[in-house]
This record gives sequence, structure tokens and C-alpha cells, in this order.
Amino acid sequence: MISIVFVSPPAAGKGTQSQMISEKYNIPHISTGAILRNEAELMSEIGIKIKEEMISGNLISDSIIIELLNKRLNEKDCEKGYILDGFPRTLNQAKLYDEMLEKKNKQINYIFYLKIDKETAYKRTIGRLTCSNCQTVYNNMYESTKPKVSGICDKCDGSLVKRNDDSFETFEKRYQNYLSLTEPLLEYYRRKNNIYEINSGISKEYTFKQITKVIDDGVIND
Ligand code: AMP
Repeated sequence: MISIVFVSPPAAGKGTQSQMISEKYNIPHISTGAILRNEAELMSEIGIKIKEEMISGNLISDSIIIELLNKRLNEKDCEKGYILDGFPRTLNQAKLYDEMLEKKNKQINYIFYLKIDKETAYKRTIGRLTCSNCQTVYNNMYESTKPKVSGICDKCDGSLVKRNDDSFETFEKRYQNYLSLTEPLLEYYRRKNNIYEINSGISKEYTFKQITKVIDDGVIND
């Protein structure tokens, strides 16, 4: 069983790394952002509220997140492990997750802190395109991460869309939320578990190599 969480600013690459890890180790990639975007698309009463909060760059309430996550983690494909992308995002979520794991008699195996400076995170956010079908992430700001055909996913031919929370204003809000609410998790996890710091500002291949070194050999040379 491999269970992974990330602590990272917006656009540090947690979605991309989650997908690469998922393919290599054959465990599901669980993105709370993607679960929420699906919920928002349903246009239910709760979906409409979620959409409004996401467009404003606000975090969704812990009770909604925990309920959706718990449901997902109880699915069969999570038995051999999973990667959490975007959760926990607050100290309270980290504590609630620890309680959830204790009940299931499980633990977090790897915590990856993806380090990136604010300017790079901003550039990645503004150029980001996501496949509406398979969630693969591209970026028009960098030659190496552009799709082969503009607007089309290289992997599944799905159409590429810009997330409606990838704007300058929302980025600022999300970044400030990260600093005030998510970054304190570093201290919490440093006291409790093994946390691995990885430079995520070079390339996705470099980041992935560091992550797999930790998982396969338990070491990191960053
Ligand atoms: P992401 O796809 O991880 O960048 O998340 C997109 C948006 O979904 C965030 O800006 C939040 O509004 C919401 N979100 C995702 N994960 C969480 C979470 N664990 N707690 C609260 N809100 C979340």
C-alpha cells in the first residue's frame, strides 16, 4: 500500500506528478479539485455554491471535502494505495485525515513538499490547459509542455480547457490561502512524519525522478 500527500503552492505540479505516479505505480490519482469541479458541473444546489467559491479562489468547507473524500477512499481501487492531490489543505483537514486513517488502521507513507517560487507558479497557472476528458495538464507558456496540436490532448484527443479559476486575481487569492492555511502543514508534518522536500521549479521529469527515488530507494539527492 502506497499513500501519498502533497503540500504545495498552486501550480507547483501536484496534478502532473500525481498522474505520473499513478501510471508508474498503478494506484488512483484522487484530486479533490477535480471531484469538486465534477460536483460543480452537476449544478445541484451544493454544486452551484462550490462553483462560486472555486471561482473566487476560496477553499470549500472541510465538512464537504471530508464527506466527498471519505466516499472516494472507500472505493475498491483505493485498497492498494492512492495519491491525494489537493488534500489536506488546512491544518484542520490534516487532523481530520489523521483521524480517518486511524479508524481505517492506515497511515500516510509519503509527504512530498513541492517547492516552487511564486513567479514560476504564476506563469504556470496563467498558461495552464487541462484535458476535459483525462485531466492531463499542458502549458502554453513552455515549449516542452505545449500539446502537439493546439487545443487537443496528446493522449486521448480530448479538448483542452482553461480552468475558470486560473486567472490573475484568483491566483493571488489561492496563493495567499496557501501561505496562510496550507504552509503551516509543513510544521505539522515535520513533527510527525517523513516529509520530503523536492524542487519542483526545474522540470516535471526532474521532480518525478526525485519522487521515484524516494518511493523506490527511500533516498533523495536534491
Ligand atoms: P486544485 O485543483 O487542487 O487547484 O483546487 C481547485 C480549487 O478547489 C481550490 O482553489 C479550492 O477552491 C478547491 N479545493 C480543492 N481541494 C480542496 C481542499 N482540500 N479543501 C478546500 N478546497 C479545496
